[in-house]
Amino acid sequence: MILDDLDARAAALDARHAQTDLRDRFLLPDGVVYLDGNSLGALPVGVPEAIESVVREQWGRDLIGSWNTHGWWDAPVRVGDAIGRLIGAAPGQVVVGDSTSVRLHQSLHAAAALRPGRGVVLTEPGSFPTDEYVVAGVAAQVGWRVEHATPAEIPARLGSEVAVVVLSHVDYRTGELLDLPGITAAAHDAGALVVWDLCHSAGALPVGLDAHDVDLAVGCGYKYLNGGPGAPAYGYVAARHQDAFVNVLPGWNGHAEPFAMAEGYVGAAGVARARIGTPPMLSLLALEAALRAFDGMTIEEVRARSLSLTSFLRDAIATVVPDADFASPQDDRRRGSQVALRHPDAYGIVQALAARGVVGDFRTPDLVRLGVAAPYLTHADLVAAVRALREVLRHDEHLDPAWTTRNVVT
Ligand SMILES: *Cc1c(COP(=O)(O)O)cnc(C)c1O
Repeated sequence: MILDDLDARAAALDARHAQTDLRDRFLLPDGVVYLDGNSLGALPVGVPEAIESVVREQWGRDLIGSWNTHGWWDAPVRVGDAIGRLIGAAPGQVVVGDSTSVRLHQSLHAAAALRPGRGVVLTEPGSFPTDEYVVAGVAAQVGWRVEHATPAEIPARLGSEVAVVVLSHVDYRTGELLDLPGITAAAHDAGALVVWDLCHSAGALPVGLDAHDVDLAVGCGYKYLNGGPGAPAYGYVAARHQDAFVNVLPGWNGHAEPFAMAEGYVGAAGVARARIGTPPMLSLLALEAALRAFDGMTIEEVRARSLSLTSFLRDAIATVVPDADFASPQDDRRRGSQVALRHPDAYGIVQALAARGVVGDFRTPDLVRLGVAAPYLTHADLVAAVRALREVLRHDEHLDPAWTTRNVVT
């Protein structure tokens, strides 16, 4: 029987990848297969304790002195360096705080200042909505024209008018992984800058920001980085652009001498000039503790595990749903860390799976999105998910009228 074969294959693969099984570094409820770590990462074991200590000892006991004694002031850049390790950025180029939306807004304004006289921002249709809105908003503010092109068309669309190319490294719906090195190089050949959104790649696969000469990048802390709901985002400013980085949201935290309380704004040296105002310290320190889940692990190791898991999941789904219509690429080089399936009853499938303890998510109009956060998932978990999927479809659980009304958050 097919599922027994899958059990045996899963056991063999789990044995082969035992070194990178970090499941015991996370707190997940028993009986749940969590395939939504690309929306909200699971809770790393060290986080509750870290928050308890930050609240009781640092805030409660040491009070305001903690800005110095517990390194609160430097945390945005210190935590930025910890993220930098996972995205291929040498220290001093990543700053943490605010949301991805804010960081993208800030990065695009900085790009406009670095490329004066160019009037086009080039992006792809179907980006994550906030990215679309921010691009349109900044374009209106700086006088850019927004042009859309598919990633494959982008090199041919570059010209002397293009100031910046803005793209998501991994498509949030299909999981398609773009050619970051190739597109970045093509943009540079045309004199343009690149801003990469790493929300769906950071913590899941190697990005190589420095190695590929990326100019600016942003990403969120709560997906594969597991920083918790509303965890602060980060911005990357390549060292070579820092002196000319114009902060459209100048705030006192990014001032060269914040405690001089000076009248005029003078940006700090280095990436600290991208700081804005006081960071959400509890969330920031929760993120710092969460990143320790990656200790001793390289991002290449995480990627190797992820590729094994996602290709296995795809195969396993295909054995129980022979006509499965995959939106995620089959080619390892083009796939991020998720498997996405098109189905007219996608919403019902996601809800029925959740009722069976398999948590994925639905993306409009017809996608069942199964995020694979490699550190805390095993191949055996994926067989359990596929078993549940087979039961849902076999018993038409996805057609249950209970699923015709959608929740506020899908
Ligand atoms: C998750 C995600 C965001 C989130 O932006 P917020 O400002 O944190 O709400 C932005 N862009 C992409 C591509 C995302 O996947």
